Amino acid sequence: MAVTQIASTEFERVTLPVDGEFTISRGTAAETEVVTVELTDEAGRVGVGAAGPSSYYGESADSVEAALPPLLSVVEEVGNPHRQQPIERRLADAAAEEAAARAAVSIAVDDLAARQADEPLFQRFGLDPDAAPETSYTVAIDSPESMAERAREAVAEGYSVLKVKLGTGRDRERLEAVREAAPDARIRVDANCDWTAEQAVANTAWLADVGVEFLEQPVLADDIQGLRRVHVEGEVPVAADESCVTAGDVPAVADAVDVVVVKLMKCGGLRPAMQQILTAQSHGLDVILGCMLESNASIAGSCALAPLVEYADLDGALLLAEDVYEGVPMPDGQIDLSGVERGTGAVPIGE
Ligand SMILES: [Mg+2]
Repeated sequence: MAVTQIASTEFERVTLPVDGEFTISRGTAAETEVVTVELTDEAGRVGVGAAGPSSYYGESADSVEAALPPLLSVVEEVGNPHRQQPIERRLADAAAEEAAARAAVSIAVDDLAARQADEPLFQRFGLDPDAAPETSYTVAIDSPESMAERAREAVAEGYSVLKVKLGTGRDRERLEAVREAAPDARIRVDANCDWTAEQAVANTAWLADVGVEFLEQPVLADDIQGLRRVHVEGEVPVAADESCVTAGDVPAVADAVDVVVVKLMKCGGLRPAMQQILTAQSHGLDVILGCMLESNASIAGSCALAPLVEYADLDGALLLAEDVYEGVPMPDGQIDLSGVERGTGAVPIGE
């Protein structure tokens, strides 16, 4: 394999409309702003990535655009896309607080390196394409009737795992409406920090009645004691998302939850995600690989790690009405890595 130096870098801010509206306990989005990154080598091959910043973590398209020039300078200085380790170390030094921007660059570097090697990225990690779990499809907060309708549509489209957002009131009514509409679906619930530990423990009684697989982030991010209480006293397994941002957060939640949610946009790249996944699994925890509202340009990067984890919630691009990249196919929610020819599999739409 010939190594070809990176010749140029660019980024572009793109506003992508959400299919319908996307409401969680913290607010509603009708569109999402992502920033795509493209790295072009001297042979004209292009590696792509994207940032899907989250205001919850203090990031935005503005902060990503401000962070990217120094990050892309690092990439241009190193030049060789196969030197991911020194690149990611320098990215972390250059923009410690801008995980989404770092993730965009990390994905693009690995995508380009894999394209130069003419191999799919998951294969360069030595992963089994058939081991990727199926992704859940998110039913965001809406009226119980609308949530039921969305669940019915998702099941009709072939999805068999639903993630139901709760946490603004009428929670039980909403969840029961979804269950009635999707009697055979596997259902997970995400309260996005909205409940107290006491409410959460009580709510697990009806979550268990509905057959919920696990409850994601019932309490505030810094309430690890609350998580532990729900884990010990509640009737369904508990997952930490906002409470577990990077690998370094795993030990503190290890005896407080059953599952950890890993997202490239939280931890800042492919290797930080691998580190968090393996740290969680070393502590006896299962892992959900999750996402923000994101373009396929970044979701495809996450898909390359999907064979490592027990659960996937990689529907960020499925929830959009438009995207600028195609990514890894997900027929019936199955993350189909077998069709990825090289890199992450992300391809600009129209090419
Ligand atoms: Mg979550």
